Amino acid sequence: MVSLNSKIKNISRIISLLKKQIKQFENPIATEIGDKTKNPFLVLISCIMSLRTKDTTTGPAAKRLFQLADNPKDMLKLTKKQIEKAIFPVGFYPTKAKYIKQTCKRLIKDYTGKVPNSEEELLKLPGIGRKCMGITMCYGFNKNSHIPVDTHVHKLTNRLGWVKTKTPEKTEIALTKIIPKKYWHDLNNLLVAHGQNTCVPISPFCSKCYIRKYCPRINVKKSR
Ligand code: SF4
Repeated sequence: MVSLNSKIKNISRIISLLKKQIKQFENPIATEIGDKTKNPFLVLISCIMSLRTKDTTTGPAAKRLFQLADNPKDMLKLTKKQIEKAIFPVGFYPTKAKYIKQTCKRLIKDYTGKVPNSEEELLKLPGIGRKCMGITMCYGFNKNSHIPVDTHVHKLTNRLGWVKTKTPEKTEIALTKIIPKKYWHDLNNLLVAHGQNTCVPISPFCSKCYIRKYCPRINVKKSR
């Protein structure tokens, strides 16, 4: 049987190659907003917007919304319609506008207008699941306490053979058991950038991939 450690034995090399490769690409939206603003509220709200939406749509939508309001108090002064108009055309924008308003209300009522710095409390907020909780902890609070897993992280870590899982939730649990904690903070950013640009869901660009040598390309049927 393959030991856990042997699955990730090249992780240090893989991380450093991915860091090189993603320099040519745009940062994923959550990291970009976290890096630029160091503001957990903006990371949290942009993460709500980003669910099932491409970063190229979320980025401009976040900019439009944050020009109108960049804190819970000001956000609550906006009507749901104003939020919808600002974030359109992100996917499910009416539902997301509702969650944004509800979240701001809770932040003011229960957390003195501040985003709580805890997994348990973040998960109580409307519309916040494990991914947005992890993204906020990593890129809003700059912690290495979580590995946020979205479809890119899920697919890529399965292709690399690090995990063999059916859902992002199971991938998160499996990754936290095998990945050394010093890599947790950067992992989402690296794998999302790689997954958006090189290891794309259908027909990945394996011929241009810096980590090709270390990748068993599990379940990759077609590549470029
Ligand atoms: S070699 Fe192909 S499947 Fe493996 S990480 Fe690179 S792009 Fe993805």
